[in-house]
Amino acid sequence: MAARKPTEKTLGESLRERGVSRRGFLKFCAATASMMALPPSMAPAIAAALEKAKRPSVIWLSFQECTGCTESLTRSHAPTLEDLILDVISLDYHHTLQAAAGDAAEHAREQAMAANPGEYLVIVDGSIPGPKANPGFSTVAGHSNYAMLMETVENAAAVIAVGSCATFGGLPAANPNPTGAMSVMDLVKNKPVINVSGCPPIPMVITGVIAHYLTFGRLPELDAYNRPMAFYGQSIHDRCYRRPFYDRGQFAKTFDDEGARLGWCLYELGCKGPTTYNACATMRWNDGTSWPVEAGHPCLGCSEPRFWDAGGFYNAVSVPTSASGMNVLAAGAVGAVVGGAVAISAKKQTKAEVAHRQPVTVEELEAKL
Ligand code: SF4
Ligand code: SF4
Repeated sequence: MAARKPTEKTLGESLRERGVSRRGFLKFCAATASMMALPPSMAPAIAAALEKAKRPSVIWLSFQECTGCTESLTRSHAPTLEDLILDVISLDYHHTLQAAAGDAAEHAREQAMAANPGEYLVIVDGSIPGPKANPGFSTVAGHSNYAMLMETVENAAAVIAVGSCATFGGLPAANPNPTGAMSVMDLVKNKPVINVSGCPPIPMVITGVIAHYLTFGRLPELDAYNRPMAFYGQSIHDRCYRRPFYDRGQFAKTFDDEGARLGWCLYELGCKGPTTYNACATMRWNDGTSWPVEAGHPCLGCSEPRFWDAGGFYNAVSVPTSASGMNVLAAGAVGAVVGGAVAISAKKQTKAEVAHRQPVTVEELEAKL
């Protein structure tokens, strides 16, 4: 994994060299536009921008984590991991995926930083024992996580925090937080930090953020927690197919009762969907196969801050407060009282969302380019 300068080749040149057909490239662009919830009319602009884009150097740092976020990325389908690593970015350092070890691995990180000052992206998974914690709690190659993070972001263009641990502290920061774990945005104040939360995050969301950066040369629009609006703009509850049951007050009481068999709402079994913002209900998992609520399990709220400390996963009473300040119980009361009005509003939102995610075909794209 020798570091490459981003100016070496454009993405278009790199694709042609590797024998990727123009049609395959346009298919990638069409999928990317749909994935980022951009209108179909944006697809030609994406194709033109990606054709000329330089492959940025990417340094991926893994700190206090379980490798679930990398596992999630390696399950990505559109674009595939191979597309992402070989065609779109230059992944110059990644503890788990790199072949190099020891000094050679560390040299790759230093080389990437030196060759691309101000231009490389840093992706972080895992939380970091803060500056006041014992530096020996978590180290890589003899460097504390904190020292390695601060040194690596110093000359970065931007930092992408991936997963609940990097974005909000995650499990390592759960009470009583024995290692003094902190999130990336708690520590990095002088660089743009984008949060791709989730335990783990949806792989297409990770790749979508990178594709957006390459296309537009900037990070996407963010919410109050620095999460991209395209993926975290609506709650699980807003887009859940069980929502009509919620609005009618029909709740499964156990995992195997008649209500559960009929697909009723999982709110009383602890579903945190009303206060959780993520794209699971629209993008789903494993190449769109299914998602937890469809599989019969309540949403745990994994993409929200402090979800480990927010009360029992299966307890509807102990709930976190939503970003809007409304708790799940209040949301339930509103649903029961004004269910009809909420359902109409949800339908309108759904229509707008569908219009936005309308895919463009490769034939349409070819006709325009
Ligand atoms: S509470 Fe959960 S299962 Fe019920 S409608 Fe909302 S997201 Fe779906
Ligand atoms: S359904 Fe909820 S807990 Fe499950 S992955 Fe999506 S946001 Fe996380």
